[in-house]
Amino acid sequence: MSSLDVLGQRIRHFRQQRGFTLEDLGEHVGVTASALSLVENGKREAKVSLLNALAESLEVDLAELLNQSPPSPRAALEQRWRESVNEPLFHSLGLQPPRITRSTTDDVLAALNGLYGEIHRREQQALATPEEARRANTEQRLRMREANNYLPELETLAEDLVGVSGHQSGAITHREVELMAKSLGFDIVHANDLPKTARSVTDLENGRIYLPPASIPGGHGLRSMALQAMAHLLLKHRVPQTYEEFLQQRLEINYFAAACLMPRTQAVDFLRDAKKQRNIAVEDFRDAFGVTHEAASLRFTNLATEFLDIRLHFLRVGDDGGVYKAYENDGLRLPTDVTGATEGQIVCRHWSARQAFARTNRTTEYYQYTDTPEGTFWESTQIGTGQADEFSITVGAAFDDAKWFRGRDTTERTHSSCPELECCRRPEADMTAKWSGKAWTSARLQAHTLSPLHGGTFPGVSDVELFEFLERHEEPDQTH
Ligand SMILES: [Zn+2]
Repeated sequence: MSSLDVLGQRIRHFRQQRGFTLEDLGEHVGVTASALSLVENGKREAKVSLLNALAESLEVDLAELLNQSPPSPRAALEQRWRESVNEPLFHSLGLQPPRITRSTTDDVLAALNGLYGEIHRREQQALATPEEARRANTEQRLRMREANNYLPELETLAEDLVGVSGHQSGAITHREVELMAKSLGFDIVHANDLPKTARSVTDLENGRIYLPPASIPGGHGLRSMALQAMAHLLLKHRVPQTYEEFLQQRLEINYFAAACLMPRTQAVDFLRDAKKQRNIAVEDFRDAFGVTHEAASLRFTNLATEFLDIRLHFLRVGDDGGVYKAYENDGLRLPTDVTGATEGQIVCRHWSARQAFARTNRTTEYYQYTDTPEGTFWESTQIGTGQADEFSITVGAAFDDAKWFRGRDTTERTHSSCPELECCRRPEADMTAKWSGKAWTSARLQAHTLSPLHGGTFPGVSDVELFEFLERHEEPDQTH
């Protein structure tokens, strides 16, 4: 909607209010009716002298005439419709927009606007189809790989904000987070009636960041949520127009919050020290800064290549073996589908990310060397428990870099030839001969929405796991 359109609308509005025809008003101000019509339709600019004459004849202030808001509810309806028909989405419908005249009733206009608004809303919703989401995820992972998962602008922004809290070392306190919010003009308010799908709500008008009253464990999540809300403000995020933009904003706020909780200078000092002692351990890093194992692992991937000259990989894998989140710049071949997406793909059973589930002692990290077609990697995995399922968090590096890490002396070693099917995806021939066609199973829904169906004979269930289960239970149960 151009300012000329609005001006024209306002002139017409006041003219009709006064009961003037185009000819009447034209005569008053000394232009022809057709010239005035062009002005009213936003097709011609009016000279200042004409504007002054119009204001006088219509008995309104010039400022009132030049006001940029629609002059009436009717004009607002017309304006919204005119904006709509100029959108690419409207053009894509291939429809000739109906001409809106004075005889078009408000009801009809409102219905047209309502219908188009709904088409618009559905189009927005459809932006996040699973395919597009997967593609956007993959592009983001590859972009971050190029950048070694390090974003210097966000680091600086985070350090500046942490600086105002007076924070010196160790874990950021809730009090310090509050001070950071205050420096941006916001109070943190805890509310137990937040919308179920919102992590936080920011009241821009009254300067308040609403957070849930508590989170598990130990309220660490609250600091993070508050910092993420501040990131939206500092980074001047607008309502995301595409799924990619949504994803990018999520990455930025998560990165920013982590960079506040584990500020660059202190984190790098800590990690350099550990490297000097050849004793890098994510669990130490986690404990020093009072964050979750996952947050510490991801933060480590931000800083390791840039400041410690260590290339590495990160995996969050569900207990079904599916990738929830993955990053690498050390050459580990992540499992991907044909489009290059890794979310929901099954990692090799011989990788640390899955071996660790079998351990009974899960309080400490599990270490192992994994031989792969791309070389040998050292890996460290911690098991965690989510809301419904268990998951594993893995940080690993190429063999040559194992020397910097605690756990390098592990004797655990596995061999993986994935993506060769023989590695762990295809059951052994004799097992297949024995069980094929002699079992039936019903698949459980996948925990994460992005995960595709995978497996063998039955969607979602691998033949290897099915046949091994049958083998385990083949002997009659003696306890009954
Ligand atoms: Zn394998």
